[in-house]
Amino acid sequence: MASKCVICKAVNRQKIEQLYLNGTSLRKIAEQTGTKVTTLHRHFSGHHMDEKLIKAEEKKEVLQADEILEEVDRLKDRAYALLKQS
Ligand SMILES: [Zn+2]
Repeated sequence: MASKCVICKAVNRQKIEQLYLNGTSLRKIAEQTGTKVTTLHRHFSGHHMDEKLIKAEEKKEVLQADEILEEVDRLKDRAYALLKQS
């Protein structure tokens, strides 16, 4: 790819993308990695990221959401059980 994106070529690109996927704000990523917010924004809004990485992360989030729902169900059952006891 003949991209001129600084982030795509950055040696710490993986770290930058990991921070982004963790929900770190662009401003903080810029501070931590010595980059600029505008550069980061261009990179992340321009589909420069490794798609496999994004898909894996999305899958993880869906799994976590499922786990939370299951936990809520368990807690609900326990609450009802406690109510019946009293
Ligand atoms: Zn890029």
